[in-house]
Amino acid sequence: MNLVSSSSSRAHNFVSFDGSERAQGKLEIPESAAYFQKDQFTAPQISRGAGLSYAAASFGKNICSVDHARLNKIVDFNEEELWIEVEAGISLGRIYDFLIEKKLFLATQPGHPRISVGGCIAADIHGKNQFLDGTFMNQVQSLNLFHPEHGILELSPKKNEDLFRLTCGGYGLSGNILSCRLKLKRIPSSMAEVQLKPLDTIEQLPERLKISAAASDFVLSWHDFTLKGKDFGRGFIQEGRFIAGDSVLAASKKAAEQSLDAESRGNLPIKVFNPLTIKMMNLLYGSRCGKSGSIFKMSLFDSIFPIQNSKELYFKFFGASGFHEFQAVLPEETFLEYMNGIRNYLLKHPVSITLASSKLFAGKQDLLRFSANGICFALNFERNSESPKFLAFLDKLLLECRGIPNIIKDSRLSKEIVSQAYPEYELFRSALRDFDPKRIYKSELSERLAL
Ligand SMILES: Cc1cc2nc3c(=O)[nH]c(=O)nc-3n(C[C@H](O)[C@H](O)[C@H](O)COP(=O)(O)OP(=O)(O)OC[C@H]3O[C@@H](n4cnc5c(N)ncnc54)[C@H](O)[C@@H]3O)c2cc1C
Repeated sequence: MNLVSSSSSRAHNFVSFDGSERAQGKLEIPESAAYFQKDQFTAPQISRGAGLSYAAASFGKNICSVDHARLNKIVDFNEEELWIEVEAGISLGRIYDFLIEKKLFLATQPGHPRISVGGCIAADIHGKNQFLDGTFMNQVQSLNLFHPEHGILELSPKKNEDLFRLTCGGYGLSGNILSCRLKLKRIPSSMAEVQLKPLDTIEQLPERLKISAAASDFVLSWHDFTLKGKDFGRGFIQEGRFIAGDSVLAASKKAAEQSLDAESRGNLPIKVFNPLTIKMMNLLYGSRCGKSGSIFKMSLFDSIFPIQNSKELYFKFFGASGFHEFQAVLPEETFLEYMNGIRNYLLKHPVSITLASSKLFAGKQDLLRFSANGICFALNFERNSESPKFLAFLDKLLLECRGIPNIIKDSRLSKEIVSQAYPEYELFRSALRDFDPKRIYKSELSERLAL
């Protein structure tokens, strides 16, 4: 395929992070950006970052996955103008390491430091501050996109604006993102203050999330969905704030040590989760927050990337059969209808929920971007013989409640659900065809959703 620059290439068995999708394809690892030459690629291909998407977004059967891992340099940096230019294969952890000593920060980041910048742009990911700083797209000042028939194009909110919108949240389907310039934010130190505030009922969540958001830099909530009756959904809101304090630079070194990957996630010889262990885990986690709440200081690294080291075991405990995440943004008006629907279903058909958590969202929904005004709510549970029935119920409830599902987190979402939930599904599809009539870029995700 490649005539110009060196790259390693081999057949590879891919698996999605949630353990559901497997496919044999080709893995190509370019050594430099010189690999991307106009008119040299015709076979189906897709970019790959860290491969940490729950859905099969960066691979597919007989598709060539172009891994950006070695295209991971910091290209330029301007401390006064507050921007950094990086190659798209760089991990968030490495950027964190580079910036933290300068008391600078990327405003929007997902929960794991191995995730790549290319993956963040292509899935237009969100952090715990979506209500304040928007999605990852809002942090991108410009980017360079390669497409074999168009060459390298510079995109920004002002230049090739439509293609910029199609590429941010475009699931890698418009081409390979080579590099980008990202906005930076000044922060007082590498410390954060975290305050847990108890929440007695799920009904209180919409109001309380807004109150917490008004006084915080990051907010999320945690709920126990294994409880029944009036206690269903009891939990806490976690408020996070940047604070001045002694720097904990050692914490940033952890960025390089993270080992989570899709291939090894299902490697434990036994499955630890079952209804009893899930109940106990919820009880233990819920007890972190006393009746009057608790407040503590921690490194910013631990606060923004909560899933590291021993906590990575959470994903491993699902075993080889894997797990589901159903994450959706609901308008505030239908949020309680959605919660009541889930509560009633679980009463009749128990499903052990390992995680129930929310974030406050604000912003316009367009194309296939996971962004809207409302409450973003995530549920995790085991993949087993009962889960398809629960998921079909959730799909239906979501449409009734006018919510949108998170495409990058759910590996079995159908074209029917996505096209009904996202009003601009057809617009996305046709914009993609206008730009790339041969549809060179493909993945299991794009084939499943008929994009
Ligand atoms: C522990 C954990 C916590 C998470 N927390 C959050 C969270 O808080 N918020 C959130 O929104 N998401 C979260 N996610 C999901 C994750 O942020 C996204 O799935 C992200 O896209 C993964 O990036 P990646 O580098 O692993 O990319 P991959 O999984 O390899 O690819 C993801 C998509 O990006 C495309 N892509 C990757 N690199 C490029 C490139 N250079 N050019 C073009 N396209 C490219 C791929 O084609 C694919 O469509 C989390 C995932 C995990 C495992």
